[in-house]
Amino acid sequence: MPIYEYSCEKCKATFSVLQSVGSGDKGTRCTECGSTRVKKLFSSFACSTSGSGGGTDFSGGGFSGGT
Ligand SMILES: [Zn+2]
Repeated sequence: MPIYEYSCEKCKATFSVLQSVGSGDKGTRCTECGSTRVKKLFSSFACSTSGSGGGTDFSGGGFSGGT
């Protein structure tokens, strides 16, 4: 599960939130002032792979074909 880094635009506090992949930053509140005006800075995975922008990892995908 990735950790998203947020920066509050209200109190300028930075905090990290553990979110599941796919969930937007809606509802994310500042841990300091509770404001929803937060800006996502970056996300850091526990196991980051080398390379930038690899998004075609379909290993182990169910590929059912044939008649
Ligand atoms: Zn804040």
